Parts: sequence; C-alpha cells; structure tokens
Amino acid sequence: MPSPDDARRRDLDLDDLLRRVRGTTGGEVDDSIPQLADADPDLLGVALALPDGRVRTAGDAGASFSVQSAVKPFLFALALADTGGDALDRVGIEPTGEAFDALELEAGTGRPPNPMVNAGALLTAALVDGGDADGRAARILRGLSAFAGRDLEVDEDVSRSEQLLGDRNHALAHLMRSEGTLHVTADDAVEAYARSCAVLVDAGCLAVMGATLALGGRNPVTGVQVVDAAVARDVVSVMATCGVYDGSGRWMREVGVPAKSSVSGAIVLSAPRVLGAAVVSPPLDGQGTSVRGAAASAALSRELGLHAFAS
Ligand code: GLU
Repeated sequence: MPSPDDARRRDLDLDDLLRRVRGTTGGEVDDSIPQLADADPDLLGVALALPDGRVRTAGDAGASFSVQSAVKPFLFALALADTGGDALDRVGIEPTGEAFDALELEAGTGRPPNPMVNAGALLTAALVDGGDADGRAARILRGLSAFAGRDLEVDEDVSRSEQLLGDRNHALAHLMRSEGTLHVTADDAVEAYARSCAVLVDAGCLAVMGATLALGGRNPVTGVQVVDAAVARDVVSVMATCGVYDGSGRWMREVGVPAKSSVSGAIVLSAPRVLGAAVVSPPLDGQGTSVRGAAASAALSRELGLHAFAS
C-alpha cells in the first residue's frame, strides 16, 4: 500500500520548490581553482531518486559539474568494500568541529579523524584496491560509475588544477606519511583524491548515487548491488555525523537527513530506506555548504517527511 509520504515523494512540485528557494540569497562561489570560480552562481537544480528507479528532476539538474567533496562517502564505501572493513581501523569516525581541510590528525593514533574531511578522503582514496596508481584510478572511476548507474568521466583540467593548487592536501598527505598512517606516496594519494574530486556528475546522477547508499547499496536504477548493505549503513552513519563538516550538528537539526556537502555547491542526501536526492547551487556559506542547497534540502525534508528524528 503506497503511503501518503510515497505520494508526496512522487508528486511534490519540484519546480515550485526551486522557485521558492531562489529567494534565498547570500554565499560566495568557491575560488580555490579557476574552474570552480567560473561556476554560474545562478545555477540551481534538484533531483530525487526513488526506490522504484524513477529519477525526478527540476531546474539545472542536467548541468554537469565536478563532484568535489560529494565524492567522499563513495570513496569511503569503496575503501570499506576493498579492504573487507579494515578501512575502519585506518580512519576515525568522529566529527572534528574543524574545517574540511584542517591540518589535523587524530591525537594518539595519527589517523585521519573521519572519511568526510580531506585527510580521511586522501586515505580512503588510497585504500581503494587497484594495484598501482593507474589501477586505483580506474577502480575508483568504475566504482563511482556503478553508484551513478552510468559511465562517469574525469575533467582532466579540474584534476590538474586540484593537484597543482591543493597545497593543503599535499600537506595532509605528508603529515600522514610522517605519522606512518598513509601507505602510498603523498603524490599518489593526492592524485587519487584530486582525480576523484574532478569526476563530472549532474544532480540527477548524484541523486542516484545517494539513493544507492540509502537503499542498502543497491542502485535503484540499474538493480546492481554496488556494495554490501553493511557498508552502505556504515557510510550513511558517518555522513549523518560528519558529512557537513563543522556544520553537521546544525544540519542534522534543520534537515535531519545524512548528507555530504561540496565546494562545487552540490549536496548529496541519503535518506535511509526512502530515497536519494541531490541539489546544486554554487554560492557557499562559511562552512562550504551551498546556501540555496541547504534551503532546498530543508524544504525537501519538511515537505517529504524525511527528517530522521521528526515524530
Ligand atoms: N577539492 C576540494 C579540496 O580538497 C574539495 C573540498 C570540498 O568540496 O569540500 O580542497
């Protein structure tokens, strides 16, 4: 029996939701690399991926952009899958209260604090099993494509810029090397992570990626079991506590859906057992979260009954 919530998820007027969200202003487009600085601040798109495989989109949901940090949950998932869970011994899972690129490792262990900040994602990218650097890059791209349900590509210009200008990522990789917690060279880790951030997606396929985690690791569009349900559960748990960096507490109260933000202005949401969603709008707040993306996420949560802790 479809519930009233199912009907709302099928019928909610997404164009109207975007019209309402356009009234939210503020934020700055990221300028860490030229390609991000060139983003259109007025870009606004939303997509929902439902358990029956339908993908509902509105606005600029078909516009392509580099995934940036919204890739981190999926790198964590691939690392967990490829290490048989050993990745959980190599990276912490506690929120930091610090910015995404803080030069900070876990006290005592020298491990990255969690897989949703840059230190953690540098390590999880390096834990994906591919033999050598090329094999790892290929395995990451194949894995991300399975989450998306289509063949994804790397924007080579973005990848080069990230590697050239990502001084803090190089610093974090060297810091982990000095602690003995990174097993590949610093350059290899930065390359694997930078190439992952440079993968091109759109809101539609990002919603499918979020849905695959929300629905026990099975892609609802292709039917492919991409990772085990236990892996998906672990990843979504850490998205809930760490996915919006030092804004994760406020996010959980206001939106109540596990999510990952990114400097391209995209946010991927995984509402367990219910749906995946993605929103994109480049202007960011001080914590690197899309301002309109957060407003759209709060509206989706409210209007579709997605808040994990609402009665
Ligand atoms: N490529 C960005 C970096 O590592 C990703 C950060 C983000 O999206 O939050 O600096």
